[in-house]
Amino acid sequence: MKRYYQEEIETASREQIREWQSERLVKQVKHVWDNVPFYRKRMEEAGLTPDDIKSVDDLHKLPFITKDDLRDCYPTGLVAKPLSECVRIQSTSGTTGKRVVAFYTQHDIDLWEDCCARAIVAAGGTNEDVCQVSYGYGLFTGGSGLNGGSHKVGCLTLPMSSGNTERQIQFMTDLGSTIICCTPSYAAYLAESINERGVKDQIKLKAGIFGAEAWTEEMRHDIENQLGIKAYDIYGLTEISGPGVSFECEEQNGMHVNEDHFIAEVINPKTGEVLPDGEKGELVFSCITKEAFPLLRYRTRDICILSHEKCSCGRTHVRMTKPLGRSDDMLIVKGVNVFPSQIETVLLNKGYPANYQIIVDRVNNSDTIEVQVEMTAEMFSDNVGTISAKEKDLVDALKAMLGIYAKVKLVDPKTITRSEGKAVRVIDKRNLYKG
Ligand SMILES: [Zn+2]
Repeated sequence: MKRYYQEEIETASREQIREWQSERLVKQVKHVWDNVPFYRKRMEEAGLTPDDIKSVDDLHKLPFITKDDLRDCYPTGLVAKPLSECVRIQSTSGTTGKRVVAFYTQHDIDLWEDCCARAIVAAGGTNEDVCQVSYGYGLFTGGSGLNGGSHKVGCLTLPMSSGNTERQIQFMTDLGSTIICCTPSYAAYLAESINERGVKDQIKLKAGIFGAEAWTEEMRHDIENQLGIKAYDIYGLTEISGPGVSFECEEQNGMHVNEDHFIAEVINPKTGEVLPDGEKGELVFSCITKEAFPLLRYRTRDICILSHEKCSCGRTHVRMTKPLGRSDDMLIVKGVNVFPSQIETVLLNKGYPANYQIIVDRVNNSDTIEVQVEMTAEMFSDNVGTISAKEKDLVDALKAMLGIYAKVKLVDPKTITRSEGKAVRVIDKRNLYKG
């Protein structure tokens, strides 16, 4: 079986990768200097000209780009090619502020699809596979990115888009899908629906490629067991291209960054200092091959760790942990940093399904946090005493994990709204009072 999509690139020596990165970075800096007034101004403010960037060692000299810069430059202020040479846009949902619009030339799309193809082959995909793409299509990058990757691998591609679970399961059984690509929360929901309908023996899935939202190892095991598949993580963001910036191999231990296209750095989010391998910090990406929307040193707000340790799969590109949190998602409750993923870990460890909601509020100037969790049908009991004992058990476990008291409310099975895209896990009512 084919193990790599682009073997020479994916298993290149570190020296070779460094050489590609240096050469492409130098070229990219000149490209943005010549074509994007925003970059030229930023570089001039930092006292830089393109001559100051001679290799990847000089990357740290360049100023960062933030989501605020993207907002200020909306919609075309960062585009480095004439619009006549661009063939597509993709966009974020804009749920946390103004939406980001990214531009692509045909060449950009081609390289992006290569990245997604690498992820599919790493998950065991070949031209014998039937690949069901159940990410949203349209402006969202998930659907079209993996659709393109699936074509490149030669899989029979099912462009399902998200939603319509009945039809998803019907195509999955009738056409024998072997790979499914969607958000992990939708995968969990599909697994639940498949088991409810008793059609698990009719599905042929062997692998899933899940991304676009945070998920835990516990959730991975849950999905793997319920569907009888291997569940692979994929990472990306619209600003940088879309899914496929990095992807998991058979090791399932960190995602290989496609370093011939993206240079990854981890920085101290407070000082901007670049941190060594193994240290936790904010992930920063520089796009060195993109033509239309080549962000350099873009701060992702994702907190993670990089590792250059050798991987048994033979790929030599650096691995990143799945984001350990997002500075955007991080809740500060009673002065303590709380990540929704920590709460999810506790729930899944205690045997609860990943159907929960976190409600943060402020009562009498004091923060409160409540976790509403669905019971499984087996746990469901009319005995009030049993339920309060279960709630108390979760309160204790959450206190041990978070260091603060969180109220727990167990709710009846199927009462928390299911999502077909990104799950809404947190309702922060404190935001409503901000004016
Ligand atoms: Zn690997």
